[in-house]
Amino acid sequence: MKSFTYAGNPARILFGSGRIADVRSAVETLGCTRALVLSTPHQTADAQALSDRLGALSVGVFPGAVMHTPVDVTEKALEVVKDKAADCVVSLGGGSTTGLGKAIAYRTDLPQVVIPTTYAGSEVTPILGQTEGGRKTTVRNASILPEVVIYDPDLTLRLPVGMSVTSGLNAMAHAVEGLYAQDRNPVSTLMALDGLRAFRDSLPVLVKSPDDPDARAEALYGAWLCGTVLGTVGMALHHKICHTLGGSFDTPHAETHAVMLPHTAAFNAEAAKEELAAAAELFGGSIGGGLWDFAKSIGAPLSLKDFGIVEADLDRAADIATENPYWNPRPIDRVSIRTLLQQAWEGVRPD
Ligand code: NAD
Repeated sequence: MKSFTYAGNPARILFGSGRIADVRSAVETLGCTRALVLSTPHQTADAQALSDRLGALSVGVFPGAVMHTPVDVTEKALEVVKDKAADCVVSLGGGSTTGLGKAIAYRTDLPQVVIPTTYAGSEVTPILGQTEGGRKTTVRNASILPEVVIYDPDLTLRLPVGMSVTSGLNAMAHAVEGLYAQDRNPVSTLMALDGLRAFRDSLPVLVKSPDDPDARAEALYGAWLCGTVLGTVGMALHHKICHTLGGSFDTPHAETHAVMLPHTAAFNAEAAKEELAAAAELFGGSIGGGLWDFAKSIGAPLSLKDFGIVEADLDRAADIATENPYWNPRPIDRVSIRTLLQQAWEGVRPD
């Protein structure tokens, strides 16, 4: 066994059908009595119901979370936090709502309870991505890591099939990159592999039966594992390219991860052959081609073309993705990244 350093993020995870009933005790355990519930506008009704469930422990709902955590939205939410003297936030939703809760915690050190309703995995990372003046920046800080996460699969029963698929592939990308991360350790590798297995087993079931309770639980369990990997080890080419495409071309977050994953995995397949062997096995022997076949079989988007990216954009994307050097198992150069982007744009199956 190679030598390694293990560093885990502290986390209190409440998992299971019906666990949303524990939200009051989760707030009380934090020593809090004045929770502000956060959501996107789309999930206002669910956030209001959660606030009602909290009763006297809730000071109200801020249903203004939007994608990419714009700083002006955070500032509006901070005014509400101050006006209502909130002493914690309860974030109900996907990565966008979790992002707002983290942005508040980063500025105030208020504790967070997160109740995820997608598979993005942000709830178990100390990472905050936020945007200001059209620029997305990322910060990593212990205050950003949520204190309590309640994973209740019942809340994901209505996650539309298309979002379930793309969000699941987004999570799987954390695991695939975690497998070859330079700072990986035996525990992150176990989590990554079981996360990939959980999605491999559950997503095909969810496509046919979106409200299958066992498959929903399995997928949410996978989201926890894959998110934890993202929160503990470093990411490489795949996350860099998705960050570039989302940040500079405004492509949709989870969909971009879904399209890129087979291509970035294939790109690194030879250089990280040993590290990816067990994952390749899960998908029929070839990590790139196998993930592409899996994505196709569950109806995932397969081409960057579908997001309004034109071929001419690929040159600029390749420039941005290679302008600052970063570690990747296979060394990166502009020509090979441009080729990779072309293949993802056309939607061809990688080998
Ligand atoms: P999202 O949170 O933007 O959700 C998309 C839409 O789906 C929203 O309108 C939301 O209200 C709705 N929705 C969420 N759950 C639903 C459900 N169960 N049923 C019906 N509708 C539902 O999407 P996302 O993919 O979860 O998050 C993307 C964001 O998260 C990006 O900004 C990304 O950068 C961030 N993210 C951050 C990290 C991190 O560690 N910092 C990790 C992963 C993602």
